[in-house]
Amino acid sequence: MIMKEIRVEKNELQFREPFAIAYETVESAPILLLILKDEEGNVGLGSTAPDETVTGENIDEIKKLLEQRVGLDFFSHPIKDRSWYENKIRQDLAGYPSAQAAVETALLHLIALQEGVNPQDFFGTCRQSCNLVVTVGIKPLPETLTEVKKRVNDGFKLIKLKVGLDVDGDIEKIQAVRAALPTKIKLVIDANQGYSYKEARRVLNAVGNLDIAGVEQPVPADQREEFRKLRELEILPLIADELATKAKEAKMLLAQGYADGINVKMMKFGGPSSCQEIIEYALERSKLVMLGCMYESNVSITAAAYLALAYPINFVDLDSGHFDFDDDATLGGAKVKNGILRLKGIPRLKMSKEKL
Ligand SMILES: [Mg+2]
Repeated sequence: MIMKEIRVEKNELQFREPFAIAYETVESAPILLLILKDEEGNVGLGSTAPDETVTGENIDEIKKLLEQRVGLDFFSHPIKDRSWYENKIRQDLAGYPSAQAAVETALLHLIALQEGVNPQDFFGTCRQSCNLVVTVGIKPLPETLTEVKKRVNDGFKLIKLKVGLDVDGDIEKIQAVRAALPTKIKLVIDANQGYSYKEARRVLNAVGNLDIAGVEQPVPADQREEFRKLRELEILPLIADELATKAKEAKMLLAQGYADGINVKMMKFGGPSSCQEIIEYALERSKLVMLGCMYESNVSITAAAYLALAYPINFVDLDSGHFDFDDDATLGGAKVKNGILRLKGIPRLKMSKEKL
C-alpha cells in the first residue's frame, strides 16, 4: 500500500501536577506526533519527546527535520519491509534518536494495521503484562511518604524515588521511605546526576544496608570515572542513565564494568529496534535493565511497552503517557491498572474522522 499523507503535529501535554527532579520542575511537556496515512486510510502513529538537556535535540528542530527528511519519497520502498526501513531510519536520521523512534514506531503501527496483526508480534511476547515502576518526584518528606503509601495501595510493587538535591535530607528520606514500604515492594533511587562523587559515596554508605534494588545516575553524566569508582565500592547496584546517550556508549559502559545496569530509553537510543539490541546485549551479560521514558505521549510509551512485554526487563519505568496526562491526543495501546502494564489495541487519534 502506498503512503498518501505525512503530518507532524506539536502538542503540549499538561501534567496533572508539577513534577520535580534534581535538575528541573515541569508543568507541561511538548511532544511531536508523527501521522502516517496510507491510501486505504490506515493511520500509523509515532511520537517523539526529545530531552534537550540529555541528548541535545531541540523539539522544533526535530519537527523541521522530520518535515524535511521524511516526506512521501522516504517511503518509496515497499512499506512492509521493516528491516530495510530500520536501516534507512538509522542512516537518514543519524544523530537524532527521538526522530528515529517516531518514524520507526509510526511505520510499525502502519504495517500492523495494513496486515491486521498485533504489533507485539513483531517483537515476540515473554509476558502478557508486567509490574510498572512508579516514580515519586522530589517533594518534602511528609508528602513523599503520603504519595509512596498511596502508590502501594494502588497496587504498585516497584517505587522509584527521585533525589539528588540535598544529601542529608535524601538520606533521611530514603531511610524513611524504605521503612514505610512493605518488604515485598522494591525501591529504586534516582539522583539524576545530583551528587558529587563524595556526596554520592556518603549517600550510598548511609543507605547501603537497606533493601534497595538499584541507584540510578548518582553523579553527573560527564563523570564517567567517578561513576566507575562508585561502582567498585560494591555498595548497591548502580544503573547508568544520563551517562549513556548513545547505543555504542551504553554497550561500552556495560562491557567495561562502568555500571551494573542501564536505563534504556527510546528518546536516547533510537527506535524500538535500536533499544532491542541494547536490551539483548545487557540481558546476555546478566546486567540490570530498566526501560525508561522521558515525559512522553501514549504513542511512544506504547512502543516501549512492546519491549517491556517481549523481554524479562527488571524495571519497567514507563509511567508517562496517560499516566501523567489527561490531554493525550490518542486512545488505545498501553494501559496501567493497579500497577500493572498491559496493551490494548493500537494507538489511534481520538478524533480521527474530524482530523484526517
Ligand atoms: Mg533516570
